[in-house]
Amino acid sequence: MVHPPTIADVNEADLLPESLREDFPILQQTVHGDKPLVFLDSAASSQRPRQVTQALVDCYEQDYANVHRGIHVLSERATDAYELARAKVRDFIGAEHSREVVFTAGTTASINTVARSWGDANLAAGDEILVTPMEHHSNLVPWFQLAERTGAVIKHVAMTDDGRLLPEAFDEAINERTKVVAFTAVSNTLGTVNPVKEIAAKARAAGAISVVDAAQSAPHMTTDVRQLGVDFLAFSAHKLCGPSGVGVLYGREALLEAMPPFLGGGSMINRVYDDHFTPAGLPAKFEAGTPPIAPAIGLGAAIDYLQAIGLGRIHAHEAALVGYAWRRLADIEGLRLLGPSPLEHGPEVRAGLVSFVLDRPHAHDIAQLLDRDGVAVRAGHHCTQPLHDRLGITASTRASFYLYTTRGEVDALADSLATVREKFRPTGRKRKPRSAGE
Ligand code: PMP
Repeated sequence: MVHPPTIADVNEADLLPESLREDFPILQQTVHGDKPLVFLDSAASSQRPRQVTQALVDCYEQDYANVHRGIHVLSERATDAYELARAKVRDFIGAEHSREVVFTAGTTASINTVARSWGDANLAAGDEILVTPMEHHSNLVPWFQLAERTGAVIKHVAMTDDGRLLPEAFDEAINERTKVVAFTAVSNTLGTVNPVKEIAAKARAAGAISVVDAAQSAPHMTTDVRQLGVDFLAFSAHKLCGPSGVGVLYGREALLEAMPPFLGGGSMINRVYDDHFTPAGLPAKFEAGTPPIAPAIGLGAAIDYLQAIGLGRIHAHEAALVGYAWRRLADIEGLRLLGPSPLEHGPEVRAGLVSFVLDRPHAHDIAQLLDRDGVAVRAGHHCTQPLHDRLGITASTRASFYLYTTRGEVDALADSLATVREKFRPTGRKRKPRSAGE
């Protein structure tokens, strides 16, 4: 039974004004004829406001040239804008120096940089790399590859049955051989918000580095690397209203200084000789070749946009929607919600997404049927196969929210899902047995 939504289900004061959606032209369309688009796939990639696309247009139409190279006016302007974007990122994550902010191609590239550069220089056979059962493949595979190269060992910390990481579990898993603790700040499948500060402190106390995958946290809540006490932190612009093709690797200055560069080429050198080179200083040492110039500038514009609204308000908006979605979806027969309940643990335990499985039909069919109603969700393993194995499922459906998501859109999801489930309701009639050879 689906209970009728009531205004009391959401504290109106927590919601952002719907007028914000006017900044997102892509959301103002109908699909499949006359169905208003209900975009609930922001965890995969968010949409971007006019302010960000305008920054890209301005860059390409007025100020574009390669950076750090030419001594001409366009190159100087592009370099200034690129470095201003770096300063905005520094401010956005609370880093001490812009030198600690490396522009990469995205979260995946950032984590690979740490695994290759720090990992190859510091790990030996028998050392341990601690990961969690809820990691995205991009915070697993680079560590598996590092373990293959060095003989290091992969270990998993325990997770509660409802998908939480408890700091105590790290006490059990961390020992004197632990060199890396790699974990996500927010699970892209469960939505769990992890205790980053506590985990990072435990890693540091044991002499291990902490590598935080902030792909799903940086867009949705305040990040302060110094307050969190993390060593490395990675995120992508395309999930926080910015362009695709650019991301960030934050690293503590002392660590980055001591690390050899990973990619070699132009811009990352101080001097090249016949058969060797000396590396540039930070952050250029880790930015070989022509960087993602316009995307980085677009990321700066996205940060301006998010900060003008306030990360705290964005988080409160999403927490309100998740609580509401949780209650509405829990009423659908045969539906299992994944991850910790915000009703049991409070809204702080979750970020803005809900994943679920229905007893029928399969996740991919659900996504296709929802799409016919204009509701865009994600189905599959969301690059978290070990987590799905752990949950005993092969796929799930995920609806993810952002600052532009409305309560009406959550209603559209719940209504469409209830109709899907109704269509696939078990009839109780026995199926005709198949004849041999059929
Ligand atoms: N980690 C998490 C938690 C993610 O959700 C994603 C994106 N799905 C990534 C890492 C990888 O990000 P990107 O594809 O931008 O490198």
